Amino acid sequence: MYDLPQPDAYRDERLLMVEQQLRARGIRDERVLDAMARAPRHEFVPQEHRGEAYEDHPIAIGEGQTISQPFVVAAMLEALALRPEDVALEVGTGSGYETAVLAELVGTVYSIERIASLAERATAVLERLGYSNVTVVHGDGSQGLAEAAPFDAIVVSAAAPQVPRPLMDQLRDGGRLVIPVGSGFAQNLQLVRKIGGAATTMYLDGVRFVPLIGREGFREGEWIG
Ligand code: SAM
Repeated sequence: MYDLPQPDAYRDERLLMVEQQLRARGIRDERVLDAMARAPRHEFVPQEHRGEAYEDHPIAIGEGQTISQPFVVAAMLEALALRPEDVALEVGTGSGYETAVLAELVGTVYSIERIASLAERATAVLERLGYSNVTVVHGDGSQGLAEAAPFDAIVVSAAAPQVPRPLMDQLRDGGRLVIPVGSGFAQNLQLVRKIGGAATTMYLDGVRFVPLIGREGFREGEWIG
């Protein structure tokens, strides 16, 4: 059913996660389901939390940050309607897990993380696992990554006060952006499509993310929640 690599100790748990947490809750994109059946989430989780890697919740990864709940990752990537030839940008690498799922789905992935130690750790894990179509950059992703633009798809994994203008500018015409917008108290996941230079926005769901800290995001210390 799924196009799986070599079996590992967590394979059965991973397939259960895909069936019970994703497919049963309405994720329909077979490419996303397949990618999440392949990507070894346990490799991106700190050793002491490995046993929880396929459970239905976010997990602490250090530096006050989290690896997102599997369903949220699936819902964001499904909304982007990704194609194998796409060039994608991820803002907020975190553990590198969503980066790996993206790398299963598109041709080229850029991912940017503001905390150097997380960017370094994610780079090391992704390299060890052989994800060769990924470039992880340390920097402020609220400003996008102009040197690699334009992007067919952008996923932001931290909550912004509004859609950052540079991200819209770096989106190719026909491109899609998924981003949680709001505060520490209430956030809405938005899907923005750029068509003929204009943006159309669809509101997807209520979510809860850590803040996007940066020039086009929140200031450090400004976040309450
Ligand atoms: N998708 C990630 C994963 O699979 O592990 C989880 C991302 S975590 C919820 C959000 C990440 O966004 C954190 O690692 C945080 O440091 C990062 N972040 C916050 N503001 C940022 C910014 N301006 N630029 C880049 N990364 C940022």
